[in-house]
Amino acid sequence: MQALTIIEHPLIAHKMTLVRDRRTSTGDFRRLIRELSMLMAYEILRDLPLAPVEIETPVAPMPGQMIAGKKLCFVSVLRAGDGLLHGLLDLVPAARVGHIGLYRDPETLQPVRYYAKLPDQMEERLAIIVDPMLATGGTAAAAVAEVKQAGASDIRFLTLVAAPEGVEVLHAAHPELPIFTAALDEGLTEAGYIIPGLGDAGDRLFGTK
Ligand code: URA
Repeated sequence: MQALTIIEHPLIAHKMTLVRDRRTSTGDFRRLIRELSMLMAYEILRDLPLAPVEIETPVAPMPGQMIAGKKLCFVSVLRAGDGLLHGLLDLVPAARVGHIGLYRDPETLQPVRYYAKLPDQMEERLAIIVDPMLATGGTAAAAVAEVKQAGASDIRFLTLVAAPEGVEVLHAAHPELPIFTAALDEGLTEAGYIIPGLGDAGDRLFGTK
């Protein structure tokens, strides 16, 4: 699996333009992020293992296929990760869900952990960590470390907008980690915002600004 995958699709490009546009309303922003996560799930989950099952249609018996193995786990990095989480759960409703609360100290830009709750048996699950913005990479690297600490080894990171700096920091800390993004932007402002980015994803999702 590639270390960095930029998922390209006309629907993703179209919806990304809408979410980036400052005029997009909170309600539309939330709906678009949910739709984007569903579209991106198609790519990030394309190698899920399948097991054969026998079923009967109303007409005849037939061999079918179902996703095999332990229930996968979506891990939302609070709070903006929740925007992506719900689209993934629409597609995989039986998935387990973990939450990690990390915020960036506005002075140091370093991650501060205030909450973590993950399902059991993480060592047997594929874990998809979701955070719409991969900016400095500090928060993402801390989230991956937390999920590893819980026993997971099969981990992927799903984001909407990545800064090159964030990708570098995340891969320096976790070289084996596959990162999936809808866009790789130019860089970061001094305040740690992605340029051109989409602004503060949490505020735009929850209407807090
Ligand atoms: N977090 C955000 O919500 N936006 C950015 O641009 C960077 C980090």
